[in-house]
Amino acid sequence: MTRLYDDPATFMEDMLAGFLDLYPNHVAAVPGGVVRSTATRAGKVGIVVGGGSGHYPAFCGVVGRGFADGAVVGNIFTSPSADDAYSVAKAASGGAGVLITAGNYAGDVMNFTQAQARLLSEGIDARVVFVTDDIASAQPEEIEKRRGIAGDFVVFKVAGAAAEEGYSLDDVQRVAEHANSCTRSLGVAFAGCTLPGADHPLFTVPAGRMGVGMGIHGEPGISEEDLPSAADLARQLVDGVLAELPEVAGHRVGAILNGLGSTKYEELFVVWRSVSLLLAERGFVVIEPEVGELVTSLDMSGCSLTIVALDDELERLWRAPADTPAYRKGTALDGEAAAGARRMHVVKTGSANSGTQVVASPSSQACAKRAFAALNAMGTAIANAEDELGRMDAVAGDGDHGRGMVKGTAAAIEASRGPVNQQCGVATLLRTAGDAWAAKAGGTSGALWGAALSAVGTRLGDQPPTITATDLVSALRAGLAALQQLGKANLGDKTMLDALVPFIEALQTEVDNGGELATSWEKAAKVAETAAKETSRLRPRVGRARPLAERSLGSPDPGAVSLAMIMTAIGEVLPSA
Ligand code: ADP
Ligand code: MG
Repeated sequence: MTRLYDDPATFMEDMLAGFLDLYPNHVAAVPGGVVRSTATRAGKVGIVVGGGSGHYPAFCGVVGRGFADGAVVGNIFTSPSADDAYSVAKAASGGAGVLITAGNYAGDVMNFTQAQARLLSEGIDARVVFVTDDIASAQPEEIEKRRGIAGDFVVFKVAGAAAEEGYSLDDVQRVAEHANSCTRSLGVAFAGCTLPGADHPLFTVPAGRMGVGMGIHGEPGISEEDLPSAADLARQLVDGVLAELPEVAGHRVGAILNGLGSTKYEELFVVWRSVSLLLAERGFVVIEPEVGELVTSLDMSGCSLTIVALDDELERLWRAPADTPAYRKGTALDGEAAAGARRMHVVKTGSANSGTQVVASPSSQACAKRAFAALNAMGTAIANAEDELGRMDAVAGDGDHGRGMVKGTAAAIEASRGPVNQQCGVATLLRTAGDAWAAKAGGTSGALWGAALSAVGTRLGDQPPTITATDLVSALRAGLAALQQLGKANLGDKTMLDALVPFIEALQTEVDNGGELATSWEKAAKVAETAAKETSRLRPRVGRARPLAERSLGSPDPGAVSLAMIMTAIGEVLPSA
């Protein structure tokens, strides 16, 4: 259980307030996360790490000298938004470019890549590296689909040390990618983790059993076995990881035996005893291993073994000193150390789309009012379905879809209330709503819904003389295009696209046949509902649910179901002719 919290909805903010109070010499708050409390040295590449919270010391705990310059801090198990990542990266930039690095999760990939694009458009050189160490999460042929677990720590550490040494951005990126390609992990879980405020864990493991190949967001293991002895577990982890470890000349490796949140250090030491012997037996020289909690999963019980094959460069960077709230190594760093100037500035974030003042045409204003009513109907429908959507997402994903959608719709409504009262057009309304949704919901679906709403608004425009049903269909197609461009999913991949595409096709047919909007929409929403149900037959090929594709069979895609719910709710507030 996660027992101690005040308000589950503000757990992340409350956690961060305590953390910042504890470590003023290391970190300072900026919108979207934290940065070192000293400004990034001019000419030093900024290293930004990040992801959802619930993984401490990842990610804010490793901000400091020799490690990261900033951490983007999302809600529990939820990707931070692109705005958050942009804000932290901008604050962490010292003029020599920024590397943003995170585990390979769809939401983080989308949001951090969007932040990268925005930094590049402002002339700040930015790169992204996504960590793929978890061998259980995809076959070797699909290594680029693997997720990042405790191997995050290795890649972040190496990148941080390289930047501290004065590497150029090109070289920091090269060595981070190299570290990722040399790192493999495998984990096991003895019990699932519980989100603050929830009364049951995201998954359970029967007594005396163990889940093998679990994720770090409550994604259950890919198989289940009897609980072995510590020595047998050590053998299983060592065999699994070594089978996939790239060849190392000299047989030198770094290693992490990582506790996931509620496995005692003493238990880990017992396992390590055998891991160490086994590695020695096989001729490996283990360099400065780490045993402890480095990348956790709330209160999950379990552990993972990470091994990195070291060449001379990686070994030097792995051994380099660091001084962060959660991780210290070696003797104090000199130079910037105490002398570093305290940072004073706070970066203003704000939506990329805000600040444009246009006088909207009457038809666009009227459409904005309808869209605002539609957002409210969406918000109500989603709030009523929050638990159901969460349960659906917990089957093979991480259980946050209901909460993410509630946060997204609520933020969209809140942000667009002012503009609609001031007679804004529909483009302004939906772009404001989309930006707020993406910023506040986090997660994959948040980024996608945000981009889609903005694109629908942009296509409708603030100044069209009229807006017809046909215009609306083409605007929905623009939304679909934005969603596909960002998410890169195809029909049949078991995502919200599998409800959205049939919806748009049905609406188009009805409207082309002269149907009036409200009736056509209602019919199309029924098509979307059926299509969403039918996703039960599919295996997810993208997103968080992909590693557990088999488990997802027989259960519909949560994003497709919520999309169909939303279309039904909108249909109920469309005026009939
Ligand atoms: P996360 O997966 O980051 O936890 P959510 O749980 O809020 O985010 O949303 C999950 C839903 O997002 C999935 O059910 C699916 O419909 C949708 N989704 C995931 N990846 C993609 C993608 N690449 N393209 C389109 N939709 C996606
Ligand atoms: Mg989810």
